[in-house]
Amino acid sequence: MQIEFYGATSGITGSCHILRANGQLVLLDCGLIQGRREIEAKNREPFPFSPDDISAVVLSHGHIDHSGRIPLLVRQGYRGPIYAQNATCDLCEILLQDSASLQERDAEYENKWRKRKKKPLIEPLYTRKDARQALEHITGLRYREKREILPGISICFQDAGHILGSSSVEVWLEEDGRAQKIVFSGDLGQYDSPILNDPAVIQSADHVLIESTYGNRHHRDRQKTIDEIGDIISTARHDRGNLLIPAFSIGRSQEILYLMGTYYDEWELDRWEVFLDSPMAIKASKVYWEYPHLYDEDATRLRRKVREMPHLRNLHLSSATEDSMAINKIQSGAIIIAGSGMCNGGRIIHHLKHNIWRKGSHVMIVGYQAYGTLGRKLVDGHEQVKIHGDMYRVHAKIHTVGGLSAHGDVGDLSRWVGNFNSDPAVHVVHGEPQSKQDFCDRLNQQLGLRADVPQEGDVLEL
Ligand SMILES: [Zn+2]
Ligand SMILES: [Zn+2]
Repeated sequence: MQIEFYGATSGITGSCHILRANGQLVLLDCGLIQGRREIEAKNREPFPFSPDDISAVVLSHGHIDHSGRIPLLVRQGYRGPIYAQNATCDLCEILLQDSASLQERDAEYENKWRKRKKKPLIEPLYTRKDARQALEHITGLRYREKREILPGISICFQDAGHILGSSSVEVWLEEDGRAQKIVFSGDLGQYDSPILNDPAVIQSADHVLIESTYGNRHHRDRQKTIDEIGDIISTARHDRGNLLIPAFSIGRSQEILYLMGTYYDEWELDRWEVFLDSPMAIKASKVYWEYPHLYDEDATRLRRKVREMPHLRNLHLSSATEDSMAINKIQSGAIIIAGSGMCNGGRIIHHLKHNIWRKGSHVMIVGYQAYGTLGRKLVDGHEQVKIHGDMYRVHAKIHTVGGLSAHGDVGDLSRWVGNFNSDPAVHVVHGEPQSKQDFCDRLNQQLGLRADVPQEGDVLEL
């Protein structure tokens, strides 16, 4: 029996680990590597295994950095099962199709200049057809439903509280009468986050693989974050402008809508018109509202009371392009939630073009902004920004709300791993190098655990 550490060891994205038992090979996640061009080129390198040799894929959650290379596996011949929590299966329908469209568009764009320079053309990493085929192989399981997926290999998904359907995965391996239990944290959410349950308590394992995105940072207190959002909305109303919220389609958009429903009166939202201007977020929201049995107590109570989610009387869903363009005419009193979350594409760009140069406009940043993106430039206080080739002066007020992360902070991660009472070996993955090392040190020194930071390609004999 072996664990081989492969993806999300040198950084955060491209999550993928390989388990071997009884001559079978199971992948835990098969994520896309994301970042700058040079980094993303790694997605085209061959896997360290032959896709024919894989017996099963187990997927922790829908995010592309965990699921995004599954269509590539299928393109290369993989026809075995892909296991995921039921809601993850539904979100994958949206996410993998979207990812495939992006791959096709990227290749098309790249081939334009390759044609001009008479260079050989490239194929997309994978296509919508590959994504559709991958989705045919996906099998949904409920939380806490233990299933033998291969001889001597069983799995069970436990709620990770990160996005809908997100899971930590328990894996039981048996070979020649010996047994080992591996627990893979997946991405862990914050305790007390909106809509979702807290990460589930798991107490036994021989080996734990844990993420460390915020392995050395603390998030802002939840109540302070709520107050902060309320203040921003009230300032924006006082300034008689629009309020733009760039948000990721899956997770963040639904959380924002849910919070608006919860604090509707307190935030005096009846004075606004709210637009969810993103076809993908609209689709993802439908999935979110279809799984009320996955909500935490507060969300369940709210839903029982209002009977529909989200509870916003003045919410407009803008699917069609014309609906989106119509919003541009509104000068005041619109809250516009649109993607992309980092302002590096999508409909939010058009809204920024129409609002960013106007005094009285407000932009509320609610998610992580990677270096080099327009969102990051706004956060960093650039006075001018380039949008679609034109320079715009930034007169809008930019607010950064830090406390809404979908990832638990160092306190949350420590609390989760502190539940184990079987003295497992802990392997820290899925984090920037410093974050991983700091978290590993903390686990060893403060929590008395046996932790290490595996490197890409490390093989652990169990
Ligand atoms: Zn994630
Ligand atoms: Zn992740």
